[in-house]
Amino acid sequence: MSEVNSALRLLIVVGILFSASVNAVSANPKRIVLLQSNGPNFKPWSEYAKAFRQELERQSFLPIAVQSFPISIGSDSERAERQLVAYLNELFPDNALPDLIVTFGAPAAAFVQRNRAELFPATPLLLAAIDQRRVRDLSLTENDAVVPVWIDIPALFENILQILPQTKTIAVVTGNSPNDKFWVEEIKSRLESLSGRVELRFLNELSFEEVLKQTANLPKNSAIFWVQPQVDASGATHEGESALRRLYATANAPIFSHDDAFFNGEIVGGPMTSVTQGSRVGAAVAVRILAGEKPGQIATPALQYGPAKFDWRELKRWNISESLLPKPNEVLFRRPSAWEVYRWQVLAVSAAILIQAALIIGLLYERRRRLLAEVESRQRMAELAHINRYSMAGELTASIAHELNQPLGAILVNAETLEEMLRAPTLDVAELREITSEIRRDDQRAGRVIEHIRSLVKKVPIEVKQLDLNDVARDTLAFISSLAIARQVQVRHVLAQVPLPIMGDSTQLQQVLLNLIVNALDATADKPISERVIIVRTERSEGWIEFSTSDSGPGIPPDKLKEVFEPFFSTKPSGMGMGLSIARTIVESHGGTIVAQNQTRGGATISIKLPVKL
Ligand code: ADP
Repeated sequence: MSEVNSALRLLIVVGILFSASVNAVSANPKRIVLLQSNGPNFKPWSEYAKAFRQELERQSFLPIAVQSFPISIGSDSERAERQLVAYLNELFPDNALPDLIVTFGAPAAAFVQRNRAELFPATPLLLAAIDQRRVRDLSLTENDAVVPVWIDIPALFENILQILPQTKTIAVVTGNSPNDKFWVEEIKSRLESLSGRVELRFLNELSFEEVLKQTANLPKNSAIFWVQPQVDASGATHEGESALRRLYATANAPIFSHDDAFFNGEIVGGPMTSVTQGSRVGAAVAVRILAGEKPGQIATPALQYGPAKFDWRELKRWNISESLLPKPNEVLFRRPSAWEVYRWQVLAVSAAILIQAALIIGLLYERRRRLLAEVESRQRMAELAHINRYSMAGELTASIAHELNQPLGAILVNAETLEEMLRAPTLDVAELREITSEIRRDDQRAGRVIEHIRSLVKKVPIEVKQLDLNDVARDTLAFISSLAIARQVQVRHVLAQVPLPIMGDSTQLQQVLLNLIVNALDATADKPISERVIIVRTERSEGWIEFSTSDSGPGIPPDKLKEVFEPFFSTKPSGMGMGLSIARTIVESHGGTIVAQNQTRGGATISIKLPVKL
């Protein structure tokens, strides 16, 4: 008696542990009792009971109170069953009977059938998650409704052979309880047609430990079909997920199953009974019964498989091509690609790179445009400089003619003297030699004048070399001297007595000096002859070499001291206004500066400064 009491206490504790939520605010909620086959965690029915409860809470418009009990009666079934019936009777006396009993799986359905008269004779019964074949063994009443499923065994095995066509062996892993054996026989009889094609190995008569050994060493091209063992050959029951996990860890072949309650990392997949669908349809029938419909009048056709489901990780592991999967299908647990995981980062970085690239291209294009513009403007400037030199050469024509006339006149005089001497009876050889050498000297002098003109007017490429600014100044003054004489201007030189080393292009610098001197000559034009003076000066100071022209002209209006360097600024009737502008460009391209000032005693001073370059 005390044994019965302690068993009852245990069952009450279990009952409380699994007693359900009360989803009611009203005083009289509908009371629903769930009886799930085997232990509280025995799959697939534990999953059905869980999902059914959620669905019922979602679908029911009446307040409900749900209690669930595992119908776990183990190996000493008769005694355990008696205790369980007694326990339930205690819990549900005649004045507190539930409004609906729901069973999950065939063992729970059979338990209620066997004990209906004693337990809940008048309470409506809903048999859920039970295969159509198991319903036939039951005697149903007007008070019973069924939501059956149809486990299509050939479809499950065809799936294996379709996606793994090389399969030669399929090991069927299940237990050895009456319920397990029912399925062994079902599989055998339904798969007779496969007998020549594939070897079926039934491992139900082995302990689970032995099953693990066998499945770890299956021949090549094998697969495993999993039906959760209720009680294995050694008498051990297998609840929860650990049995399947252990099988997965050691098996050397892919695992398939019939119900998606097991589809959670170990199963490859295929067509399977759906927990979600079964629970949804079951809950809908329960709601109708609770609303007053007669259970026996609610006919539900057996639920079929939905679209096949596959585990992407297992497909990869067993090298199964997605093209072989039956259609329609759903591939789950895909590992997201790097693109899917980092899409926004990749897009942001790409956008940044693109913008950067566009900016770089834009800047390069701009730089190239500027370089081209610079080259073009340098070319224009060179052309203008050339025109400026050309026009200056024109201005210097009188002076050049004078420069040439002197040696040419001397040559003529010497030539006439020679003729005279040739007519004389005796020849004074020494005098002859002197005359011819004079002729050569004059010829060279004329040649230098012509060379000077040529260098001024010819287009020459820029040639930067080491120069002494005094040499450039002397050359320019010699060149200009005749013009100064013609204009009756007194030119004074104050040249530095030290070397004036610079780096530069002699033609360009000569052009600058010429421009300044000619401007100074021009400035004195309106002065009386006695007051026409210009002073050309060169000096060396710390790091700099200076050249300046000062004249006795009218000076430059103070507000024009900067403007005179702008292109086309001219106060002369036939002036181009380019001389000083070109001079500034040349000086600056030599790293120097040019400024215009007025002297306190009148007249202008234009000075240039160039860096000392040794
Ligand atoms: P252009 O001689 O053809 O006029 P420049 O650029 O050489 O062109 O000179 C620009 C202007 O600067 C001159 O027209 C003149 O008004 C002024 N200028 C230049 N040098 C002097 C100077 N030494 N004294 C007074 N004015 C000057």
